[in-house]
Amino acid sequence: MRNRGKVWLVGAGPGDPDLLTLKAARLIAAARVAVVDRLVGAGILALLPSDCRVIDVGKETGHHSLPQPEINALLVRLASDGADVVRLKGGDPFIFGRGGEEVLELAAAGIPFAVVPGITAAAGCAAAAGIPLTHRGIAEGVRLVTGHLQQDHALDLDWTRLADPRCTLVVYMGVGSVAPLSGGLMAAGLNAATPVAVIERGTTAAQRTLFSTVGTLVDDVARWQPQPPALLVIGEVVRLAQDRPLAAVATGEVCCG
Ligand code: SAH
Repeated sequence: MRNRGKVWLVGAGPGDPDLLTLKAARLIAAARVAVVDRLVGAGILALLPSDCRVIDVGKETGHHSLPQPEINALLVRLASDGADVVRLKGGDPFIFGRGGEEVLELAAAGIPFAVVPGITAAAGCAAAAGIPLTHRGIAEGVRLVTGHLQQDHALDLDWTRLADPRCTLVVYMGVGSVAPLSGGLMAAGLNAATPVAVIERGTTAAQRTLFSTVGTLVDDVARWQPQPPALLVIGEVVRLAQDRPLAAVATGEVCCG
């Protein structure tokens, strides 16, 4: 039997290559085989060695080019054949990245693995848009949820718990669900004037931020048509990014690198 390879689940962060961890950058620069998601940007793929075998299992909402069980099986197969595999995932592997499923499958197959954390979209986008996710006196916590609709299922979230004016709500994969999201939050008592930021392609040169409110979100998103990937940040902290001095971060007026 050939020696088994190892699989590194590597968080590639939200897009800007400068936001890679040193460990991720080191593994990417030495990769022989890389299995990559669509969210991993061109700037990061360019850091892979030119002779690295790159397998694109890219996913977009609604178009899973390779279903998750097949990705899991592919990782097991590559490592069983002796390859050391860099499994590159957008953001952090364990935050809406299905990294848990991959790790369970690798463990079941006896493949050694390691997980390298990445900057998740919530942290990257908030920093790039000038939104402190928690802020003394305004938000004492932050919740990360997914707005992704399972096929033929209504968005099933605990609205009473989420409609908390003192806790920032970050919604991944939520742009397609703004109607049930804003409707559910308002029905559970969240003020319609609560500010919302929609951050498109956060941390990349193409980043745009739309400021809206829970009450006007559906119309604003229809007009603005955010391009993926985009993240929703809902809560009073968003107001801080609309006012100086933090607004200067969002517009790039304040920039130190
Ligand atoms: N594991 C990833 C999330 C994968 S789910 C992480 O930790 O960030 C994919 C969702 O992440 C997208 O639908 C979008 O809501 C969000 N996302 C990822 N990168 C983003 C970016 N650069 N800008 C805005 N949203 C992003």
